[in-house]
Amino acid sequence: MTPRRCTGHSTRTGRSCKNYPMHGQAVCHGHGGESPQAKRKANERLAEERARKMLAKLGRPDPVTDPIGELQQVAGEATAWSQLLREKVLALEGDFRYEHDSTGEQIRGEVQIYTAALKQTGEILARIIALDLEANRLRLEEAKVLILVQALDQVLGSRELGLTSSQRTFAHTQLVKRLEKHT
Ligand SMILES: [Zn+2]
Repeated sequence: MTPRRCTGHSTRTGRSCKNYPMHGQAVCHGHGGESPQAKRKANERLAEERARKMLAKLGRPDPVTDPIGELQQVAGEATAWSQLLREKVLALEGDFRYEHDSTGEQIRGEVQIYTAALKQTGEILARIIALDLEANRLRLEEAKVLILVQALDQVLGSRELGLTSSQRTFAHTQLVKRLEKHT
């Protein structure tokens, strides 16, 4: 929120400043509002305010309940976008640079966008692969724990130990409880 009056004080009288603050700021030009830092901050603040207003107009967004599915969707879009740009770049037939009047030779925008799109697609795919590997690792761990519990259950159930069924149940429950603490 931009206050109605500058929040600065007169160094002479100590009274509140009567000037209006600069746009997006709490202080006037005489109280630091003109500094490049203050102006940059004000621009950021105003841009954020605009973005918030736009977001408010869109209403409440749907929560993402399936982030991996959503990420796969994004990967699909990124791939399609890369392919589309690839066509554009191929259409240049190797003419990737052009002469600009003031800045000299430049790489064509299509090539730059295509390169960026490829990089981004690669990053998204790498993230999906990493998530997949992590999910596999967890599944494997769960399978191992299950095998361990089954093996111990067999030992507890062996005749040689002579445990009653309530003792076996107790041991099993304790075992599962303790294992769960570590996962
Ligand atoms: Zn002021």
